[in-house]
Amino acid sequence: MPGCAFVDERYVAPEDAKISIFDWGFLHSDATYDVAHVWQGKFFRLSDHVERFFASMRRLRLDPGRTREQVRAVMHECVRRSGLRDAYVEVLCTRGLPAPGSRDPRGCTNRFMAFAIPFVWIADPSKQARGVDLHVSDVQRIAPASVDPRIKNYHWLDMVGALFQAYEHGAETVVLVDGAGNVTEGPGFNVFALVDGELLTPAAGVLEGISRRTVIELARAQGIAVREALLPVAALRRADEVFLSSTGGGVIPIARVDGVAVGGRAAGVFGPVTARLQAAYWALHEDARYVEPVNYDAA
Ligand SMILES: *Cc1c(COP(=O)(O)O)cnc(C)c1O
Repeated sequence: MPGCAFVDERYVAPEDAKISIFDWGFLHSDATYDVAHVWQGKFFRLSDHVERFFASMRRLRLDPGRTREQVRAVMHECVRRSGLRDAYVEVLCTRGLPAPGSRDPRGCTNRFMAFAIPFVWIADPSKQARGVDLHVSDVQRIAPASVDPRIKNYHWLDMVGALFQAYEHGAETVVLVDGAGNVTEGPGFNVFALVDGELLTPAAGVLEGISRRTVIELARAQGIAVREALLPVAALRRADEVFLSSTGGGVIPIARVDGVAVGGRAAGVFGPVTARLQAAYWALHEDARYVEPVNYDAA
């Protein structure tokens, strides 16, 4: 696989990016991470991703042992060394290994890692053009009182179980619910639904996605009514338009929810709000206020 990773303070090829099985990041999912993307040689909203990464680490009492500037520099260097023009760029901080025989996380040496690999799509452009089939799972997203969902985390047993359920229903991806029958989020994305002329996205119990924030800002700028609110499953099912937002593909149209065509539209035909926001999302990748070029020629 093309790419470049940063592990144990060294830049290595992806196949050499390895950690100890005794790292609590692996044994206990005791870690946080963030994912930014590079599109046509430029990072998108890099500062926002780095800021969220540091907020996640602060909440988990993890210390990457470096400043925001140094984290940014490692991300740039991974992409530069990989040569990738379109990349998925992840930073991670794990709890690390405890002192021998100890189970006290305070004694762990935290570890910072990063990698850049080819861009990863939740739904690639051809699938986006068809629209994605979504299943609404009865699996509950892990409760916010247990794991703060604003911290990007690897507590994915709920997500993976729900994904298998979606495949059994003939769907391609899945959203999970909370304990009260409201939509939360899915594996790596937030959800939007146009209900009674208003764009709704779950207000709580979700990761505050950078793409979600981008969509909210774009909608406001275009005069589209948008609100962070409760999104009951019933509202999702009668929505006129539904889409996902993620670093892994931007604004991703949903064609069907549990086999029912969204808004009664034919496959491959999307509502005007989804289409406008999708175009605006990619247009922002040309806007100097949101992008930061990778210097591929630097020594
Ligand atoms: C990463 C992620 C998202 C989307 O966040 P973006 O910053 O838009 O990529 C949403 N939910 C979960 C659980 C995630 O891990």
